[in-house]
Parts: sequence; structure tokens; C-alpha cells
Amino acid sequence: MKRNFKFCLLAGAIAAFSLSACRDDKMEESVLPESQSANAKIEQPGDLEKICSYVDQYWSSTAVLKTTLQNTADTQFMNAQMTKIASLWGRSNPTLRFVDDPSNFNSTYNAISYSTGKIYYGYAIYADAKNKGGDIVNAMILAHEYGHQLQYIFGLPSVSESTARPNELEADGFAGYYLRRPNGYNKTNFSEIAAAYEFAQSIGDYQTNSAGHHGTPPQRRSAVRLGFLLGQYDLNASNFDYNFFYYYQGVLNGTYKMGKNSVNPEIDAYMSQYMDELRKIQTGEISEEEFKHLK
Ligand SMILES: [Zn+2]
Repeated sequence: MKRNFKFCLLAGAIAAFSLSACRDDKMEESVLPESQSANAKIEQPGDLEKICSYVDQYWSSTAVLKTTLQNTADTQFMNAQMTKIASLWGRSNPTLRFVDDPSNFNSTYNAISYSTGKIYYGYAIYADAKNKGGDIVNAMILAHEYGHQLQYIFGLPSVSESTARPNELEADGFAGYYLRRPNGYNKTNFSEIAAAYEFAQSIGDYQTNSAGHHGTPPQRRSAVRLGFLLGQYDLNASNFDYNFFYYYQGVLNGTYKMGKNSVNPEIDAYMSQYMDELRKIQTGEISEEEFKHLK
């Protein structure tokens, strides 16, 4: 079950191509206002699009796109979070849509960020995240997905590897950053975001040679922690990327370089207090239980 948990998209360019090959963007023009019925259904694609299924090839053939979740409060929460996340980075909202599949609910256990400026968020992952850790988990997943939007927009990450790992770990970092920022989710104490990173690490994997590798659970913990620490500073997306990858070796293997941060030298001084801690998170010397109580 867990192996299917993925909240990301690996191949944005391919997705964009397939999307435009399978269907035009008519759907976007026919979106109903949020004020209409809670189950307002977006116009479904015509015969041509049906070949590629209702939503796209990343979702089951019976899945449908919606502008709402099952209840209004949840929809409002997610739309408000979307606005907050995008505006934190100085951007207007991407297109956030929800994916339902009444005949195969669990098939919507996913959230996908497309290079075409859309985020599709499954009903099942929303429900499970809320059930496991409350609103903050969905806020984190959405911030992670939006991190992929930033990557598309700004040509990030600046580091590439043979797997999706840097993209995914940086997206975890973007999420940790959002959860801390005063104009973001505004959680100043790391222990307050425990539910969020526990969920993230629960979908970490050890398929280190697989194209879809998201980072191991300790690496995902380290990435969220690093992003949270960087939330001490007001950074733009490119700055964030620079600093995230400046300290990235620590996320990967617990070694950190210091004193050469030419873009934001002040951050080195701040981060120096946390280098040993980050190393211990990565190596496991700080247990999961201790990790939850970090400040
Ligand atoms: Zn992702």
C-alpha cells in the first residue's frame, strides 16, 4: 500500500505533452464557480479525450476532476492554503483541482503537480492525510506540490541526479520552509509540525535506483528540517534553492560544508548551530522520537 503513496510528479514535461496530446484545455474554461454545489462536476471530456481516460493517464479511467472536496470547509481550507503558499513566493495561484473516483476511491491516493501550472489533488490522499495528522498534513503536501511548481517556473532544482531525489527532497524543503514562515503556516516550533513530516517520511522509500526515488525516510526528515531552519530567513525561490543545495550533502549523508556561503553568509552563522543536529538526524543518532521534540 505505502509503495503507492506518492505525492509528486516526476516527469513534468512528459505529462504536459501527454495532456495536450490527449485533450485540450476546454475543461479549464468550464470550471464552475466555487460557490456552486459542493459536488459540482467539471464538464467531462469528449470522445477523443476518453481514449486517454477522463483526467489523464496518471489517474484511473473512472476518475473525475472536481473543483471541490467532499465538504465545503475542506475545500475552503485547501483553496486558502493554495493562495497563501503561492503568495509566500510572490506568485498568483496555480490551478488547483481535486480528483474523485467514486467507484475506486483508493485510486485517488496521489497528488500531482504538472508543468502546465496545475495541481491535481486526490480525494483519497486528502482524506488519509487529514485523518492521520489533521490539516497541517494537507498543507504540507500542497506546499510540497507547489514546490514542484516553483521548480518548473524557475528551472530548479539547480542540482540534478539520475533520479527524482533532488526534486523531491527540495520540495520537502520548500514545504518545511512554508510551515515555518510567519506569512506561511506560521509554526515557529518544529514539534508543532511533527504530524506533517511523519506523513512525509512514511512515504519515503529505499528504491534508490528507481527513477521515482523520493529520498529515504531519514533524508526526507532532514530535508524538511533543513527547509524549516531556512524559514528563519525571507528567501526567494532561487535563494532557497541555493541554500538548500549548499547544505544538501548533509541531507544526503550527514556531512556539511560551512563558511563558503557567498550568497547568504549570515545563514552559515545561523546554520552552524544546527549542523551537528542535522548530521545526527541523517545518521539516525537522533531517534524519530527525539526528532519530534526538536525546537
Ligand atoms: Zn513530489
